[in-house]
Amino acid sequence: MKFASYWHDTAPVFDKGAGGPVDGHYDVAVIGGGFTGLSAARQLARAGARVVVLEAERVGWGASGRNGGHLNNGLAHSYPDAKAKLGKERAIALYKAFDDSIDTIASIIDDEGIDCDFRRAGKLKLASKPQHVAGLAKNFEAIHAEVDPDTALLSAGDLKAEIGAPFYGAMLFRKSAVMHMGRYVTGLAQAVVRHGGTIFENAPVTDTVRTGNRHVLTTPRGQVTADTVLVATGAYTTPNFGFFRKRIIVVGSFIIATRPLNAAEIAAAMPGNRTCVTSMHVGNYFRLSPDNRLIFGGRARFSATSDHTSDARSGKILRAQMASIFPALADVEIDYCWGGLLDMTQDRLPRAGYQDGVWYAMGFSGHGAQLSTQLGVVMADNILGREDRNPMKGVAWNAIPGHFGKPWFLPMVGLYYKMLDRIR
Ligand SMILES: Cc1cc2nc3c(=O)[nH]c(=O)nc-3n(C[C@H](O)[C@H](O)[C@H](O)COP(=O)(O)OP(=O)(O)OC[C@H]3O[C@@H](n4cnc5c(N)ncnc54)[C@H](O)[C@@H]3O)c2cc1C
Repeated sequence: MKFASYWHDTAPVFDKGAGGPVDGHYDVAVIGGGFTGLSAARQLARAGARVVVLEAERVGWGASGRNGGHLNNGLAHSYPDAKAKLGKERAIALYKAFDDSIDTIASIIDDEGIDCDFRRAGKLKLASKPQHVAGLAKNFEAIHAEVDPDTALLSAGDLKAEIGAPFYGAMLFRKSAVMHMGRYVTGLAQAVVRHGGTIFENAPVTDTVRTGNRHVLTTPRGQVTADTVLVATGAYTTPNFGFFRKRIIVVGSFIIATRPLNAAEIAAAMPGNRTCVTSMHVGNYFRLSPDNRLIFGGRARFSATSDHTSDARSGKILRAQMASIFPALADVEIDYCWGGLLDMTQDRLPRAGYQDGVWYAMGFSGHGAQLSTQLGVVMADNILGREDRNPMKGVAWNAIPGHFGKPWFLPMVGLYYKMLDRIR
């Protein structure tokens, strides 16, 4: 078994990073080379802006190269809850932004010729307990009537053609998609360079100073100056960006990938070949890879660390969870085990806007593989003075009291959600 992301391990390596010292003056400096930063940089470069991406490690090293591979439309949590928190108009705008995200990704893939197995698979939100069906149905009724007629409610009987596991019903979101995350992120980075942008890898921004209208960004490899800055650092935001660290709760999420399954195993376990998410608070998400591995993830443990030890411990829990859903796969070889960090917000809604002289988009709360590309483009359009399509514009983002970057309260939150899963 490899302790590495399947997406990292099976994607071409980006080899167009700029060598030499980090220097120069740019119209826009983008901090972070994941989907958010790279999609923004591509949009800016195509419009003729001089743009530089500063990435602490390598492009796609963060969540963008470590996720479950689901491009799900629909909100991460209940649409009625989002309406209660945001008001109906903004909840609809946010819902539509997720739809737009998948269309935007499809058109970038087309325009740039990125070979990444994009497919409109459709997503199943699966009821893990009989008592979860009523909640799913309530969410479905509101969504189907108000925002997304391309959805359906499936009974346990309907599910037999979709999945070989005992679930009690599901909501189907037909617009949802899948792709190879590693090939997409490399393709996006190559497109940035092709359109005239510059990418410096291994260039963590350790200091940002604003003098007059200019920002000076320092890295161990040198400095750049820029008129405008976009922060796209997600869960990996470093302590020097204190404003964001006080608002982002870092949570680990973990994944295992089996060996490629044979046709009989696929027909028994995943005949519908969709993206699947369970309805538990500490739930699981799974899909088949382009080479037919079951990519099976979940929060497993409430840990803010993803390293070899943490990933291995989580991998064992995931293996047991996979076996409980698909007993026939209990002994199948696991070829990959990895983890990554999620940028949760307190209300689990993303944030994007302008603060203290810099633009930002983050807080995707585990549901950003699609929206990160979209909000990157939307923030670039804001910087370019184009139409503002930011669904979260002006939504307050308060610091979490007592939180400065290390989520000391995570074990308590984990216990709370596990308790909810036992009683509900
Ligand atoms: C295990 C896991 C499973 C997931 N599964 C799904 C899924 O199936 N579907 C879904 O919708 N979402 C999923 N997500 C979430 C999704 O992957 C993210 O929301 C999305 O990739 C965020 O992209 P990003 O560009 O904002 O951040 P990232 O991809 O994390 O990129 C941020 C980058 O910023 C860099 N950086 C940080 N600080 C600095 C600095 N000071 N200087 C320079 N660079 C810096 C980091 O090195 C990193 O590369 C998952 C996430 C994880 C971790």
